[in-house]
Amino acid sequence: VSHRGEAFRAMAAAAEADLRQLLGVPPDYRVLFLPGGATLQFAGVPMNLAAPGQAVDYVDTGLWSAKAIDAARPYADVKVVASTAAGGYRDVPEKGAIRARAEAVYLHYTANETIGGVEFPYVPEASVPLVVDASSTILSRPFDVAAHGLIYAGAQKNIGPSGLTLVIVREDLLGRASPLTPAVLDYARQAADGSMLNTPPTFAWYLAGLVFRWLIDQGGVAAMATRNERKARLLYEAIDGSDFYRCPVAPRARSWMNVPFLLRRPELDATFLKDAAEAGLVNLAGHRLAGGGMRASLYNAMPEEGVRALVAFLHAFAQRHA
Ligand SMILES: *Cc1c(COP(=O)(O)O)cnc(C)c1O
Repeated sequence: VSHRGEAFRAMAAAAEADLRQLLGVPPDYRVLFLPGGATLQFAGVPMNLAAPGQAVDYVDTGLWSAKAIDAARPYADVKVVASTAAGGYRDVPEKGAIRARAEAVYLHYTANETIGGVEFPYVPEASVPLVVDASSTILSRPFDVAAHGLIYAGAQKNIGPSGLTLVIVREDLLGRASPLTPAVLDYARQAADGSMLNTPPTFAWYLAGLVFRWLIDQGGVAAMATRNERKARLLYEAIDGSDFYRCPVAPRARSWMNVPFLLRRPELDATFLKDAAEAGLVNLAGHRLAGGGMRASLYNAMPEEGVRALVAFLHAFAQRHA
């Protein structure tokens, strides 16, 4: 199947239309299906939106924010205008406490910190275009696209196979890429070419289209939000209601997608993971960069029965080791 052929083009157009419907993307935004993962866009964003030396502002709420900040430094004058690093990345900044510089060309934040389990319960206000890394929250709940100048999201959490990245960008932000920007990373050139400047990640795009159809059949992002909120609540209640486990994240900033938790007796961590795996519950180890502990990811694909199985295991394990 050629990506320039009728069959692929029809599939690509349907996938974009379905995504636009799901997220309510306004007509003056372009949707790009790009290769390279969200990490590539850490550099792609400043290359496209800022001239060398121009001011770009960042909010630092965790390890993904920090990576985006580091990657932007060679391309622009980066300033971190709000950070929760001093508190160990367990919260979001107070609403209203984020102030972008007047001369900044954008303000960047990470909607959900996948590793730390910290999710913004609000959209930051900014007098400059807002840029968001939405990799691990996109399509999990309604999202105000129009409040943002640019949204990007790697596919592998809620969209489809890794390697594909969505960029949703307001048209007036196109055409500012620095001349050194590779064509594949240049949003204006990709938009002009229907994201087919070169061979796109065709199979990932096709599967993403199937996921968008599935989401529409499930009732869209509002239905997913109801489900995801219930899934997360079940797990946080089990953790908070036990003196065996604890969640380090401030209640207002708790993620619906990634739930980090700690055993109060960390010497049992290895036993916990081994017993959990035997019960069919895998991938619960916390990220090494977040200092270990546990993390349960509850993306759209995780059914409520999965969460109920984990909650039952948490109770049983705590009782066994009481
Ligand atoms: C997973 C993730 C990334 C990195 O995605 P890659 O596809 O590995 O580049 C970036 N930001 C957030 C918030 C993520 O969850």
